[in-house]
Amino acid sequence: MVTIDKTKPVLVTGATGYVAGWLITELLKNGITVHAAVRNPNDERKLAHLKAASDRMNTPIKFFKSDLLEDGSYAEAMAGCELVFHTASPFTSNYKDAQRELIDPAVKGTENVLKQANQVGSVKRVILTSSCAAIYTDCTDVAAAPGGVLTEKVWNESASLEHQPYSYSKTLAEKKAWEISNGQKQWDLVVINPSLVMGPAINIGTATSESMTLLKQMGDGTMKSGVPNIGIGIVDVRDLAKAHFNAGYMESANGRNIISGHNSSFLEVAHILNDVYGTKYPVPKKALPKWLLMLIGPSVNKSITRKFVRNNVNLPWRADNSKSREELAMNYRPLKETMIDSFEMLISEKIVKLK
Ligand code: NAP
Repeated sequence: MVTIDKTKPVLVTGATGYVAGWLITELLKNGITVHAAVRNPNDERKLAHLKAASDRMNTPIKFFKSDLLEDGSYAEAMAGCELVFHTASPFTSNYKDAQRELIDPAVKGTENVLKQANQVGSVKRVILTSSCAAIYTDCTDVAAAPGGVLTEKVWNESASLEHQPYSYSKTLAEKKAWEISNGQKQWDLVVINPSLVMGPAINIGTATSESMTLLKQMGDGTMKSGVPNIGIGIVDVRDLAKAHFNAGYMESANGRNIISGHNSSFLEVAHILNDVYGTKYPVPKKALPKWLLMLIGPSVNKSITRKFVRNNVNLPWRADNSKSREELAMNYRPLKETMIDSFEMLISEKIVKLK
């Protein structure tokens, strides 16, 4: 049980990110001063939405220069904070060297931030943004989980540097976090394990998250011939912000927490978008056949290997979100609302084009 003083500032790493943007908005809305750790505090374009939120809520935000790979670079930002939200970690399929671009920042970054917490006496709780990717890699892992359902007890044992290295990066980073947390008694660790995050981005002009890449591809015609029918969990980015906030301030928050609103699939998402927007926009309408994905997948996207297609296509995704509802007071908004709000953002930003 940890009580966090709401008059003290909180640190958010990766403050420029898609997930962090909504978390920071939630914190500022509650009158909590935010120490925002960013790689470049002079990048006005990347910080504009955060400064605007701070002005709107009349609550201070201070920017600090920090890099996951630079030891000690979170010291200044963490000073005086009781609560640390560690969200920074690369989430992209656009990499050349998985070790250098995904694994190192995820693992060394977690080590850097959490070891810093050991040095800063004010820190009482660290919230780590892990992922359901630290629980499973492929839908075949879902099928193999007890009862065919992912829970907080399940760990990803199938990702590797060669197979789904992003999932591997999140698994190794979360393991490192538990190792460091178990070696000390000053602060407690609460882990957030979100499924795929969808919903409008408050950083749309500068968003790099893979979530945004996927969303754009669903509206810009890239997927107009169809989507792979792959089971996936989905959570709204605004619900995820609430989960982080509650994990920070609810005294009893603990352990790993699956944050996922819906056991869904890319095909269900396509059907929702097609029902509402299909006559005007080039949204996906149907599932791509497995044989076609086997044939062309690897040349379209390097993550869609034959092994990935074999282990995921036409298989469902199921996770148990009851811990989040019972212990973190989570209520999840309908998937249709998430997808419509996302698509409306793409329309207003002129990211999707009429057919
Ligand atoms: P994002 O928008 O790309 O945010 C990633 C953040 O990490 C950015 O602020 C980025 O800073 C920062 N970062 C990357 N490398 C860094 C480095 N070397 N030093 C300092 N900062 C660095 O992605 P997101 O979707 O919001 O992801 C945020 C977190 O949620 C990640 O931990 C991700 O694994 C997790 N997550 C995301 C999803 C999802 O579907 N989106 C699902 C589960 C978990 P720059 O702006 O400077 O690049």
